Amino acid sequence: MEIFHISAECYPVAKVGGLADVVGALPKYQNNAGHHVRVIMPCYDTKFRQENEFECVHWGHLKLGNFSFPFNILKEKSDKLEFELYLVEIPELFDRKEVYGYEDDIERFLSFQIAALDLIISRNEIPDVINCHDHHTGLIPFIMLYCDKYQKLRNTPSMITIHNGLYQGQFGFDKLYYLPEFDLAHVKVLEWDNCINSLAVAIKCAWAVTTVSPNYLNEINYSANGLESLFNLVRHKSKGILNGIDEEVWDPATDGMLEKNYSIKNFEKGKQENKEKLCNLFNLDPSKPLFSFIGRLLEEKGGDLLPHAAALALSENFQQINILILGSGNAVIENQLNSLLSDYKGNFNTFIGYNEELAHLIYAGSDFLLMPSRVEPCGLNQMYSLRYGTIPIVRRTGGLKDTVIDFGDDGNGICHDQASVGDICYSIQRAVDLFQDKKSLNKIREIGMKTDHSWGRVCQEYVEIYNLIISKK
Ligand code: ADP
Repeated sequence: MEIFHISAECYPVAKVGGLADVVGALPKYQNNAGHHVRVIMPCYDTKFRQENEFECVHWGHLKLGNFSFPFNILKEKSDKLEFELYLVEIPELFDRKEVYGYEDDIERFLSFQIAALDLIISRNEIPDVINCHDHHTGLIPFIMLYCDKYQKLRNTPSMITIHNGLYQGQFGFDKLYYLPEFDLAHVKVLEWDNCINSLAVAIKCAWAVTTVSPNYLNEINYSANGLESLFNLVRHKSKGILNGIDEEVWDPATDGMLEKNYSIKNFEKGKQENKEKLCNLFNLDPSKPLFSFIGRLLEEKGGDLLPHAAALALSENFQQINILILGSGNAVIENQLNSLLSDYKGNFNTFIGYNEELAHLIYAGSDFLLMPSRVEPCGLNQMYSLRYGTIPIVRRTGGLKDTVIDFGDDGNGICHDQASVGDICYSIQRAVDLFQDKKSLNKIREIGMKTDHSWGRVCQEYVEIYNLIISKK
């Protein structure tokens, strides 16, 4: 099967969060399963772009309203990612360090979508399916169906995979003229709540809608940042498919970013050596349980609860626990966390920023990983921590509910129901008690390390949906 994935992120080319991990892994495993898979993404000014060789395979000019941009499509020469990678180079719009967060993001990602489709129609073969990811690619199913220039793709099935439904890429109808020409009889399709909503458009126009966990699909029927009724309407073409993790990248036995590699056979010793390295780096005590958090410091991740929960847990367990935070996001949360540094020196530390290598060391060297999320479409951190023998402490929501079961029910982690400081601290207290009982602790770690989150099964589920929509052609 000929599959195109179109995405704003892909690991290791450019990563902000889980979207990159999924688009870096799913195509690889689909390719290895015998499909012909290509990924198209923007060409940011990243290390990967600078350190690898590319050839220009297509170029042109795209029109965005009154503006015209030259673009090049660059193909990575070696196929080292185990799928074909195409970068859309639009120097004025993407030659920047960050993936998102610019005032002209609407213009950037609309241009990207148009150039990506230009590449696809320039080829002789039409793909069997086009898999779009999140709102940055949400207008593609519409353009394929209704824009005259792309009518070659009218009968090609498209699918939207929703990694995070909170972000929807809305913009005003004053920018309608950015879109390639189409019959205005279809303009209503673009509308949701009086604006053009890229994610809503994709949900309406794509032949199938997937979310990254089954439980998240259930939740968005009653909580989806304004799209609830739309999700209810498209239930018949929707499916929740739990993400996998790339077990080649995330393997404590081979992970080159660790101090010491280990497997299920020697995890106690291996984890301790990584913990010592981590504690040395952050002035913490390796004999005490280490609770970590990795992620974006935002309300959706429960980031606002962290400073209060950390302060309360540290004062209740005075000098008995360590807490380490890696992340960035909301400046108020960052400051609140940093303000705890002087009071809890030696037991609490932060790294405000993004650091891939440190994240790997934290998964390996921590005892517990905190995930107090309010919203978690799938969550990869808990799966990485399970694989590295670190016990996740999660709020039962989204994909966390699908992947973590409380150890009281013979499961692999610690769970609570409310996004509250009280619930987090209660879970931390249970973890402190568990930490004293090494036999039980190690049993739970083993259960976690044995959990199968490989992509093999997941790939098959994607292909089943592709086949279903192809059969409707
Ligand atoms: P989301 O995509 O919502 O941020 P996920 O759990 O799906 O959350 O994926 C998060 C990914 O981003 C994981 O690979 C995690 O290790 C990584 N990550 C998040 N924040 C940081 C950070 N500050 N430094 C390094 N890696 C991070």
